[in-house]
Amino acid sequence: MEIRRDTFWNISSDIQICFYILAGVASVIFLYGFYRRYRLWNRGRKEKIEWKNIKENFGCFSQLVIRQTKLKKDRAAGAMHKMIAYGFTALFIGTVLVFVDEDFRIPILQGKFYLVYELVLDVFGLLFIVGLIAFLFIRGGKFRKRMLQSKMDYLFLILFLLIGIGGYITEGIRLSETNIPYAHWSPVGYGLSLLFSGSRLFNGDTYLFWWLTHGLLAFVLIAMIPFTKLLHVFTAPLNILISPVKRSGDFDAVVLMKNDQKDRIAVEHMYDFTNLQLLSTDACTECGRCDHVCPAKLSGKDLAPRNIIMKIRDNMSENRAISSFISSEELKQCTNCSACVEACPVSINHVDLILAMRRGALTEKLLNPHAEEALVHLEQDQNIWGSPWSEREDWMKGLNIPVLRNEEDTSREA
Ligand code: SF4
Ligand code: SF4
Repeated sequence: MEIRRDTFWNISSDIQICFYILAGVASVIFLYGFYRRYRLWNRGRKEKIEWKNIKENFGCFSQLVIRQTKLKKDRAAGAMHKMIAYGFTALFIGTVLVFVDEDFRIPILQGKFYLVYELVLDVFGLLFIVGLIAFLFIRGGKFRKRMLQSKMDYLFLILFLLIGIGGYITEGIRLSETNIPYAHWSPVGYGLSLLFSGSRLFNGDTYLFWWLTHGLLAFVLIAMIPFTKLLHVFTAPLNILISPVKRSGDFDAVVLMKNDQKDRIAVEHMYDFTNLQLLSTDACTECGRCDHVCPAKLSGKDLAPRNIIMKIRDNMSENRAISSFISSEELKQCTNCSACVEACPVSINHVDLILAMRRGALTEKLLNPHAEEALVHLEQDQNIWGSPWSEREDWMKGLNIPVLRNEEDTSREA
């Protein structure tokens, strides 16, 4: 018996045409949504991708995307995220192979390769479902306070879960009805096929319903991705790869620059950010790891680094003044400790963004006027009080303190 995939088993050609039309519509919506975000990123100032140290960029990619090392601190949530991410990636690659096999007429899915393909996808599909159920349990049970309780998050998880379960149901019915001798290479589907034997709900007659439901839910999900935080599935790995790899404490030393260079460093409006900075906010998964370690947030202040990133991301469609959605109080409260940058699993650099907005706030005179005055004095007079150089030694009058004035004096005093 020939071993090969029968993608459209028991599906009429009319239904297949409808399927392709719907797949096309979902793909167009997805591409439009992605292009829309891409155009918004490009409204920012142009910053070139730094490929100076490609080895380091790919090293970071391997560490954060493939091995997901930053998720290790929370072992349970990290393990679940890995199951979902690896499962999703395997199923995505599997779907691409089906597409190549069926639509490009390149016969890949046959013989031994097809058997291994079935086994791998069945195992990763199971990991995907277990990870999703565990995530729903953690989120629903509120076991991680840092996680937001938005309805959309539950909707995504349930949608993924239904798609995953739907895939197994269709596979189980197909194996049950066809009795192919290599069915055991799909262990989960095979187990279900035994259960479905003689079932009135899961049989050849109801197959079309399950198959269509599975396909339609998948199309809905594809169309939703670029309009929701699910976009991070693509932008997070991209951001990790292309953003300059920065370590904690490594940020621009520039605080004040000459007027002609002011525009390059101060962010007063949304599109003063660079294109890569705007892209980075779309990588946010809303995991809350940054909030969880932020000293300002933990001490009850207004500042929450996750909110800062989400506000930038959600206001990106207009060139709004930063002060209209992020207060100067929030910006001032950051200690630049970089704990958030260190905790972020998708390489968002909160400190760079906050420092740039602070500079913008300075030029907009949103900071405390005394703080601004002190900074100007520091630049002009090298002291925060604005005292002239001629008065520099006044404070020690009558204290008999020796003064080192030049090399000669220095050696004598020593
Ligand atoms: S750098 Fe600022 S925002 Fe980040 S953790 Fe430290 S205080 Fe919070
Ligand atoms: S900025 Fe990073 S750490 Fe903070 S919520 Fe987003 S992904 Fe998580």
